[in-house]
Amino acid sequence: MNRSFSRFLYRCAHGLVARGVIGMRRSSDHVIVLGASVAGLLAARILADHFQRVTIVERDALPPPGQHRKGVPQGRHLHGLHPRGREILDELFTGFTADVTAAGAVCCDVLADARWQFSGYLLRQRHAGLPALLASRPFLEGHLRERVFGLSRVSVLERCSVVGLLAASAGREVTGARVSDPAGNLTAIDADLVVDATGRGSRTPRWLSELGYQVPVQDRVEIGLGYSSRTYRLRPGAMGSDHLILTTGTLANPRFGALAATEGGRHILTLGGICGAYPPTDPAGFAQFFSALPTGDIAAAVAGAEPLDAPVRFRFPVSTRNRYERLREFPAGLLVTGDAVCSFNPIYGQGMTVAAMQALALRRYVTADRAAAPPRFFKDIARVIDVPWDIAVGADLAFPQVPGPRSAKVRLVNAYLPKLHAAAADDSRLALSLVRVIGLKDRPERLLGPCHLLRVLRGNLRRLARHGP
Ligand SMILES: Cc1cc2nc3c(=O)[nH]c(=O)nc-3n(C[C@H](O)[C@H](O)[C@H](O)COP(=O)(O)OP(=O)(O)OC[C@H]3O[C@@H](n4cnc5c(N)ncnc54)[C@H](O)[C@@H]3O)c2cc1C
Repeated sequence: MNRSFSRFLYRCAHGLVARGVIGMRRSSDHVIVLGASVAGLLAARILADHFQRVTIVERDALPPPGQHRKGVPQGRHLHGLHPRGREILDELFTGFTADVTAAGAVCCDVLADARWQFSGYLLRQRHAGLPALLASRPFLEGHLRERVFGLSRVSVLERCSVVGLLAASAGREVTGARVSDPAGNLTAIDADLVVDATGRGSRTPRWLSELGYQVPVQDRVEIGLGYSSRTYRLRPGAMGSDHLILTTGTLANPRFGALAATEGGRHILTLGGICGAYPPTDPAGFAQFFSALPTGDIAAAVAGAEPLDAPVRFRFPVSTRNRYERLREFPAGLLVTGDAVCSFNPIYGQGMTVAAMQALALRRYVTADRAAAPPRFFKDIARVIDVPWDIAVGADLAFPQVPGPRSAKVRLVNAYLPKLHAAAADDSRLALSLVRVIGLKDRPERLLGPCHLLRVLRGNLRRLARHGP
C-alpha cells in the first residue's frame, strides 16, 4: 500500500469516527476534565471507573466545603437538589445524603415539606416519598469535591486555566489540553479524552472553529433575569414545618422568590425578576420586592428574621443551549457537559440534577462498545436536556415581555398550566405529578394524559362552582 493511499484510508476512518458512524476504542489511560464544579466533579467520578488517571483542571483555588469561590458566582444564591439528582449522587457516592445531612444539610420530602406556589396557587401538600436536599451551593459542591478528590485515580490542578486544546491528524482528534499554571507558564497535557465542564463560558465553540469544525448552533432565549439573595436566621417556627417556599411569578406580577432552609440553621432567600425588572440589593428595596411577591408566604416567614449578610446580585441575561447533537462532525477525544452545553433559567433548580443525569449518559457512553464517538454522547444528553429546557424556556415564554417565537405546543402548554396549578391546589395527586415532572422524575407528557386532563377539568369546574368565574 503506498503512503498516500494509507493516508487516505486513515483520513476516511477518522472522518467516520468524527461523524459517529464508527466508534474508536482508546487506551483508557488518561482523561482531563476541565472545570471542578458539579458537572466536572460528576464526570470525573464516572471516568475514574474507566481511565487509569483523571486530571481535573480548575481555574480557582478550591476552598473547604461551605466557602464561596469566584468561578461559581451563582453559589451565593439558593441551590436545592431535586430527588432525582440526589438519588444519582447516592448511587455514585455511597451514603452521600446521610453524610451531608449529618454535616448540616436539610433532607426533606419534596412535597410534604415544601410550599410550591405556581400561578398564585399553593400545590396541595402531601407525602411524596421523594427526599430532596437543601444546602448552600458551596456546601454541596465542597462535599462532592471531597468525595471525588478522595478517589485514588483523580488528581486536580488548582489555579490552572485551560487555554486551548491539543489536536492531532489535522484536527480530527483532540489529544489533550494546553494549561496555564498560576505563574502563567503553559503546559501541554496529553490525554485520551478531554471533557469540557467549564460552564456557560465554555470556549469549545471557539476551539472547534480553530480546528476547522462547524460551531454548534446556539438556541437563545433572552430573559433578562436578575437575582438577589440574602441569608437569614428566621424566628423559630417561622415556616411552620416547611423547609422550602417557592413562589413563581404570574402574568400580572412576574416577580418570583424562594426561601429555603440551609445548613447551620440558616435560610436563604433568593428573589428574581425577568426582562430587567431586577430585585434590588439595598436592604429596603430587597424587602419591598419580597413584600410584593404574588403571595405573602415568604414575607410572612421573613418578618422579624435576622439578616446574616447583605443582599448579593446575579444577572442571567439569556438561556443558552449549544446544539452539539446537530453537528455532522466532531473531533474524537472531546466531550462537553453541564452548563457548557445548556444553561437555562434556574427558577426550578434543575441544573445540578441535569448535570448528574448527563454524568449517567457519560457512563453509558464510556461503557458502550462503540466508545469514543462523541455524536452518540451528544444525542444522548440532548434527550436529557430536552425536558428541563422545554419546562424552563416554555414557562419563560408565557411572559409576553420575553422575546422569541412561541410554537403551538408552547402556547397550548402555557394556556393549560395555570389550570393545572389551580386544580393541583386541591388535588394532591396532580400536585405530586407536577413536582415529579419538575424534579425530572417523570416526563412532562404525563401531565397531558387523559387521567390528568380529566382531573384538571374536574378541579377547575369545582373551583368555578365554589368561587365563580
Ligand atoms: C442563580 C442560579 C441559581 C441556581 N440554582 C440551582 C438550584 O437550585 N439547583 C440546581 O440544581 N441548579 C441550580 N443552578 C444551576 C447550577 O448552578 C449549574 O447548573 C451547575 O452548577 C452545573 O454547572 P457546571 O458544573 O456545568 O458549571 P459551573 O458551575 O459554571 O462551573 C464551571 C467550572 O469551570 C471552571 N472554569 C471555567 N473556565 C475555566 C478554564 N478556562 N480553566 C479551568 N477551569 C475553568 C470554573 O471555575 C468552575 O469551577 C443555578 C444557577 C444559577 C445561575
